[in-house]
Amino acid sequence: MNDCIFCQIAKKERNARIVFEDEKTAAFYDIHPQAPYHILVIPKKHITNVFDLKEEDKDLIGHIFLIINKIARDLNLFSFRIVTNSGREAGQSVFHLHFHLLSGRFMHWPPG
Ligand code: 5GP
Ligand code: ZN
Repeated sequence: MNDCIFCQIAKKERNARIVFEDEKTAAFYDIHPQAPYHILVIPKKHITNVFDLKEEDKDLIGHIFLIINKIARDLNLFSFRIVTNSGREAGQSVFHLHFHLLSGRFMHWPPG
């Protein structure tokens, strides 16, 4: 999608501090970090949010979690939280599926 900022990051049409990428995924630092480590992990393919997932995306989502595992190990994170907002009322502001990897501070529960 041309006007999607995360598609633009995936296609290198918009700058981001990339942490990891491969053919199907990209991980980069959030521009407004909410924790000492705040990384967004996205599929390069445009998927709006969890509601938009299809049977064919099963392997891709599993792959994303293995990337999260790798990033957490590479950065020596001993504890982290994964957040995926789906829908505006849940806090989604960018409508391209992404997983927030948050770490480096104490996390409260329940989330706000
Ligand atoms: P959401 O609110 O949809 O769950 O998360 C979107 C996230 O994308 C927010 O944490 C926001 O700070 C981040 N963000 C928005 N625009 C950009 C951008 O241009 N570059 C980067 N790296 N992060 C962005
Ligand atoms: Zn997109």
